[in-house]
Amino acid sequence: RQLRTDFAENRLELWYQPQLILETGKVIGAEALLRWRTADGKFISPAVFIPLAEYSGLIIEIGDWVINEACKQIKSLETKGFDDVGISVNVSIPQFRRENFIDSIIEATEVHQVPANKLELEITESVLMDEPQVIIDALVKVKEKGISIALDDFGTGYSSLSYLQKLPLDRLKVDRAFVNDIAKPGQSIIADTIINLGKQMNLKVIAEGIEDIDQENHLKLQGCHEVQGFYYAKPMPADEFLAYLSKHN
Ligand code: C2E
Ligand code: MG
Ligand code: MG
Repeated sequence: RQLRTDFAENRLELWYQPQLILETGKVIGAEALLRWRTADGKFISPAVFIPLAEYSGLIIEIGDWVINEACKQIKSLETKGFDDVGISVNVSIPQFRRENFIDSIIEATEVHQVPANKLELEITESVLMDEPQVIIDALVKVKEKGISIALDDFGTGYSSLSYLQKLPLDRLKVDRAFVNDIAKPGQSIIADTIINLGKQMNLKVIAEGIEDIDQENHLKLQGCHEVQGFYYAKPMPADEFLAYLSKHN
């Protein structure tokens, strides 16, 4: 109930975590991440409230808001000269169940006049569990419009490698769980294999959750294209992201 009230009162914020090209350090975009600041100034983790929002159906409205907010942000960055910066948004299963979900995304890019290829949808493997063919068809439609698609948290769910080939993907995200111990002897096999798999499939590969230089060095050796993690920057409010971009690009 509190989430519903706070959402109605505009207390949800969209923060941005930079994504960089590993070799050059150039910032190519950001992942949009929800932040819920309650009336007493405390932050509640999305890991806690997203499942609530999904269960209550509120994620539909919140998700719409997130997509529109991300489009506004893309436009705003473009007007400030950062026209090559993309934004990724996370989408949940209930959003896909809605009849006109895909149309609403396309409409958002049109209303805010942003190039479709600057918007990316992050889906997890669980999105496919329901009705894989329905989801694949929806994603093909998204892709036809030029919107980019990333597979998030890859390898942590019920991965079905057979679907991996059927999905119109642009990017594979290597989950933090596999990056964590990557610099320790014998602990990098899964991450290395995912990076290699992505390359073989002609996908861009982005590793998330990089926290130190040893992890970065290992990813460089493996030829991972892109990175996102606290080592580079934590998620931050829109104005700070703009300042970050101004400093780094
Ligand atoms: P995710 O999509 O996998 O997002 C990455 C999470 O990893 C973020 O947590 C981010 O802050 C965190 N992270 C990034 N780099 C590092 C690092 O170096 N170290 C550590 N320890 N953590 C790192 P966050 O913001 O708490 O979000 C948690 C999850 O909540 C997200 O996981 C995503 O599944 C969900 N979420 C967030 N925003 C949205 C949204 O707008 N819509 C939906 N449907 N889900 C969202
Ligand atoms: Mg994500
Ligand atoms: Mg993830």
